[in-house]
Amino acid sequence: MTKLLLCTDMDRTIIPNGHQPEHPQARETFRQLCSLPGITLAYVTGRDLELMQKAIATYQLPLPAYAITDVGTQIYTYRQGQWQELPTWQELIGQDWKGKTHQDLKAALADLAELRLQEPSKQKRFKLSYYVQLEVDHAQLLKTVETRLVALGVEASLIWSIDEPENIGLLDILPLNANKMHGIEFLQRYLELSLDELLFAGDSGNDLMVMASPIRSILVANADAATQQQALQLARENNVEESLYLATDTSFPLGGNYSAGVLQGVGYFAPEVMAALF
Ligand SMILES: [Mg+2]
Repeated sequence: MTKLLLCTDMDRTIIPNGHQPEHPQARETFRQLCSLPGITLAYVTGRDLELMQKAIATYQLPLPAYAITDVGTQIYTYRQGQWQELPTWQELIGQDWKGKTHQDLKAALADLAELRLQEPSKQKRFKLSYYVQLEVDHAQLLKTVETRLVALGVEASLIWSIDEPENIGLLDILPLNANKMHGIEFLQRYLELSLDELLFAGDSGNDLMVMASPIRSILVANADAATQQQALQLARENNVEESLYLATDTSFPLGGNYSAGVLQGVGYFAPEVMAALF
């Protein structure tokens, strides 16, 4: 029996909330895959725990054993009917902030009028999140924030993104090591798995770091062309091309969009697992 930790992004990877169509049997087959013995499922998502659970209910997604949420700042396990945080992860990433707290960082940035704090539910012990109007020169603003954090002695990563439906900029300040990639590596060590017992699937920007690593990764076919190019280029530069799979094989019966792409990639890396399904 093949043992596999399947780590997957949610939005536009297994949640069909992009522009491309989803094959009507894709998610049902994905659920079957995840129920096979030997398969351990982990979601790796920008969503928080509550929004993740909402997506599971709305899209009838399988319940994972692990969840790396809030872009890597929290890791949970589902045990005895409830979600429990893995506290060792918080301790590990917390070291980057050198004993400084969420409150200390907030205070150091309080006078920057361009930063508007996001709702309390979006704030975490090791995640400080702001809204920024799109008119603001965000490159300049990020530089200022960076300088303040360096002066505070904090090692942080600044994640800039745009909420297109809401037409607003989003700035997340996280410990330097809190990201999807390090969250997955942490789970791998925690579960004592080798690299060939690990698979990742994703579709966009914050998934690229994993795709450019030796972790075997699947890029779903609905990923935009620029992301596909970037993933290939990064994998080539890092000499890990053989661990990246683009789910663009049109002969696969379910296609390559969303969860069908994940299935296609599992078939590529672990054909014996797919043989148990079809
Ligand atoms: Mg995504």
